[in-house]
Amino acid sequence: MISLQSPVSHIAGVGPSREKDLARLGIYTVADLICYYPFRYDDRTVQAGQSLQHDARVTVHVTVQAPPGVRHKGRRSIMTVQVKTSDGMPMVAVWFNQLFLRDKLRPGEQITLTGKYDARRRSLAVSHYEFGEGSSSVHSNRLVPIYEVRGDLTPKVLRSILVKALKQFETQISETLPHHLLVKYKLIPKREALFQIHLPKDGESLRQARRRLVFEEFFLFQLKLQAFRFLHKTDQPGVSHSFTKEQWADFLRVLPFELTEGQKKAIREILTDMRSPHPMNRLLQGDVGSGKTIIAFCAMYAAYLSGYQSAMMVPTEILAEQHHESAAALLRPLGLRIGLLTGSIKEKERNELLDCLAKGQLDIVIGTHALLEEGVEFASLSLVVTDEQHRFGVEQRSIFRQKGHHPDVLFMSATPIPRTLAMSLFGDLDVSVLEQMPAGRKPIQTHWITSDKEERAIRFLRAELAKGRQAYIVAPLIEESEKMEGVENAVDLYNRLLDPLAGFKVGLMHGRLSARDKEEVMGRFKSNEIQVLISTTVIEVGVNVPNATVMVIYNADRFGLAQLHQLRGRVGRGEHASSCILIADPVTETGKERMQAMVSTQNGFVLAEKDLELRGPGEFFGIRQSGMPEFRLGDLVADANVMRVAREEAQYCMSLQDFWILPEYRDLVQYLKDEKVLKAPIQD
Ligand code: ADP
Ligand code: MG
Repeated sequence: MISLQSPVSHIAGVGPSREKDLARLGIYTVADLICYYPFRYDDRTVQAGQSLQHDARVTVHVTVQAPPGVRHKGRRSIMTVQVKTSDGMPMVAVWFNQLFLRDKLRPGEQITLTGKYDARRRSLAVSHYEFGEGSSSVHSNRLVPIYEVRGDLTPKVLRSILVKALKQFETQISETLPHHLLVKYKLIPKREALFQIHLPKDGESLRQARRRLVFEEFFLFQLKLQAFRFLHKTDQPGVSHSFTKEQWADFLRVLPFELTEGQKKAIREILTDMRSPHPMNRLLQGDVGSGKTIIAFCAMYAAYLSGYQSAMMVPTEILAEQHHESAAALLRPLGLRIGLLTGSIKEKERNELLDCLAKGQLDIVIGTHALLEEGVEFASLSLVVTDEQHRFGVEQRSIFRQKGHHPDVLFMSATPIPRTLAMSLFGDLDVSVLEQMPAGRKPIQTHWITSDKEERAIRFLRAELAKGRQAYIVAPLIEESEKMEGVENAVDLYNRLLDPLAGFKVGLMHGRLSARDKEEVMGRFKSNEIQVLISTTVIEVGVNVPNATVMVIYNADRFGLAQLHQLRGRVGRGEHASSCILIADPVTETGKERMQAMVSTQNGFVLAEKDLELRGPGEFFGIRQSGMPEFRLGDLVADANVMRVAREEAQYCMSLQDFWILPEYRDLVQYLKDEKVLKAPIQD
C-alpha cells in the first residue's frame, strides 16, 4: 500500500538519480519530503512595469522584442535582450553567462523575470526566469519557497517534486491534532498547513501555516516528553551512591586546577542527588568555557567509587574523542577503565568493548549515538551524562535510561535557555548553573568588520600565528552555491587563503568529510601540526584547543547569536588573550544591532535575550536561525509562548484517564505508536 511512509520513488517522476539526490538531504520517504520545509521565501509577485522601484528586486512579466545581443568581457558573457512588460514598458533584460538561452529567447516569447531593477538604465539583471505566462507556476508570481539543496538538485527541481508529492499524496495526509485544539487555538487543518507552508497563497496564509505546524511540533514533543515520564514514573528507587570523604579528597588532589566556587557548588548538588535513592534528573547549565566537563568527570568518578558504571553521550565523534582523551588522562591513573564507542570504531574493537561493558570490566564509556544502539548493555549502569544535550531527541534520552535501572541522569548544556523554557523543554528538572568562569580567563576581544576590511583580519591573524598561536576560520557553507551568492564557503575560502596564510599549515574541515577524516584534521589541529582550521560550524560544539586564540567568522550575520556565541567560545580557553573577528555586511538595522550585541557582551544569557528581542515574526522571511536543531520549524526563543501552551495541553491530555482509547485521539495515538512512545500502555 502506498502511504506517506513510502519511499520517494513512489512519487511520479522521481527516479533513482533523484532518489539519491533526495537521500543526501536526509529525505527518504514521502513524509520526509513533505516535512522538508523551505528555509525562506522569495517574493516573486509579478509587478507592473510602471510601479518598479529603482534598485529593488522585482518580478515582471515580459515579451521578448528582438533577438539577444551578446558581448564578452574576459571570460564572462553578457547577453542583453530588448523586452516589454505586459503594461507596455520597454526595458533591457541582462543575463550573465547563460549563453545557452540565446536561441530560446526568440521575439514574441513570453517570460517572467526576477532580478534587480536599474531605473536609470531601464535594465533588469536577471537572477531567475520562467518561460510562459508564469501566472500559474509555482516558481514565479508568488511567494516562492526556497529550499536548502545539495548536489545536482536545484531549488526549482525540489519545488516541482514537492508539488507533485503534495498533490499525489494529498488524501493520505491526515489530521494529527485533536479537533478541540484546532478550534481552541484557531489552527488550520494539517493538510492545508502543509500546502501553505510550501506554496503560500500570501504572507498571512504562510503565517497561519507556520503557526499550526509549530504548535503541532511542540505539542507532539511535549506529549512524547510527558508520555515518557508517565510510562517511566516509578516508585522504584534508583541507586544510592556511597563513598567516603577520604576517597573523595584523594580525587580532588589529582585535579589539575582549583575548582571555581560555582563548580564546587554544582558538584555538591550533584553528589547529593547521587547519594539519594531518588533518581537524579539534573540539568547543568554553564556558558561555553565555564568548565562543565570536569564536573561530569567528578560525577562519573563518584559512580565508580560506589561500584557502578557510567556513560557519557555527546553529539559528535570529535567531542567523544576529546572527552575520552581527557577522561583517560585524569582518571586512568586512578585505576578507572575507560572506553570509547563511536560509529567509526572497528567491528572487532567494538565487540570487545561491548563485551567488557556487559561484564562490568569497564567503568566509564564515552561515545556518540552509537551508545544508543541495541547490543550496548551494561553490567551496572548508574549514571548517564549527556553533553550539549539539546542535540538529542526525547526518545533517545529515554532509550538511554532503559539501559540501566533508573540511572541518575545529568544533562549538560551551554545553550543559555531561560529557566522557564528549560522547564518546558526538559520537564521537572533540577537545575545547576555555573555562573562564573574559571579564574585567569582573559575576555575575548570581539570586533566586527565589513568584508572590504578582510585584509586587516588576515594581517592580524598572521601576527597571532607568528606568536605561536592557532586560529579558526568559519564560513557558513561547505562549497559554492549558486543559490546563495555572495556567501562564503569553506572550500573556496581555503583555496583563497592558502596564499595569504603562506608559511602556516592550513586545514579544511566540514560536515561532508568522513568521521575519520574529520577526526584526523582535528587531531592535527590539536597537536598544532595545523595552525589554521578553516571550517563550517562543525566545530561549533565543545571543541577545546586552548592554544587557539583567534576566531574569524565570515558572513557572521548569517548565524544566530547563540551560534555565534558558541563559535566564539572555541577561543579564550587558555592563558593567552583571544579575539573573535566577525566579518559581515548586514543590510538591515537588526542585522547591525546583532553584530553590535556580539561586540558588546560575552554573556550568553544576555545574548539570548537580545536575540529574542531583535527577532520578530517577520524574521521568518529572512534566515532561519534555529538555536535547537531538534525542531524543524519551531524556534524555542521566538515561539516560546507556543511551547508553553503546548506543554499545558500535553499535560491536560496526559491527565485524561486512558486518553489513548478516546476516538478523538485516534490519529494522535497512532502517531505516538509510530514513534514508539506509547507502546506499553496500548498493548495492555
Ligand atoms: P565547557 O563548559 O564549555 O564544556 P570545558 O569543560 O571544556 O568547558 O572547560 C573549558 C576549559 O577550562 C578546559 O580547558 C578546562 O580544562 C578548563 N577549566 C575547567 N575548570 C577550570 C578551573 N576551575 N580552573 C581552570 N581551568 C579550568
Ligand atoms: Mg563542553
